[in-house]
Amino acid sequence: MASKKIIIANWKQNGSLRSLYTLTNQIIRAIKLKKIKHSIAILPPHVYLPMLSKQVLSNKKLKNLSIGVQNVSAFPDGAYTGEVSFEMCKDFGSKYFLVGHSERRQLFSESDALISKKVSRLLSCNKKVVLCVGETLAERNKKLEKKVISKQLTSALSLLSQGSNIKTNNIIVAYEPIWAIGSGKSASNKDIYNTHFFIKKKLATRFKSCKILPKIIYGGSVNNMNSKDILSIEGVDGALVGGASLNAKKFIEICSSI
Ligand code: PEP
Repeated sequence: MASKKIIIANWKQNGSLRSLYTLTNQIIRAIKLKKIKHSIAILPPHVYLPMLSKQVLSNKKLKNLSIGVQNVSAFPDGAYTGEVSFEMCKDFGSKYFLVGHSERRQLFSESDALISKKVSRLLSCNKKVVLCVGETLAERNKKLEKKVISKQLTSALSLLSQGSNIKTNNIIVAYEPIWAIGSGKSASNKDIYNTHFFIKKKLATRFKSCKILPKIIYGGSVNNMNSKDILSIEGVDGALVGGASLNAKKFIEICSSI
């Protein structure tokens, strides 16, 4: 069997109490029927975390299904109207914390500085971070993708002191070329391989004293037709799936494609 991957469903601001309950049940059923052997995480909107975590966590045998959130505050308790801390999410079983998604960066003006605060707060508290990086189409057309990704990675990890005892297995880097998100056009296998290789080299330098390197997953128009090819690329440890993760049949096919 292929090595175990991590496949993360980013449901964004989609769904309802009823539809996400049903979707979660369908994923649970597929895992119970042993259709899915990889590690799966679902990231619902925050408000549905209490209900869905009950659903996921009450199935004690579902060791490979976890729940997480799409965004988290950079700060502990305090006067931060509208924000939700990782401690609050953790109370409802959140294991994964997505940080720096391009929609947060572009639509909500999240800066590299804010993202690095989130990353350092989560990692210093031993939490699992899924850090998104990726270039825009304009940057890609100017062949700036490596420069952009390098800057995003360096900045996101900049508040962690070199000698700090953070666990590298708490870090997942999601390479998401922005032009591929929701466009129906994923990056080519060659580009995915090359960029993952580049990110791996950067991480190996940054964490040179660590035995385990962070995992690197790909996101951007992953669907049930291309997932087998993408997940089979050397250096791809999994996938971050947006649109296709809202369709139970498609998502289960993605998760069982290799
Ligand atoms: C995403 O937004 O993280 C994503 C990968 O979306 P999609 O799969 O729809 O491209």
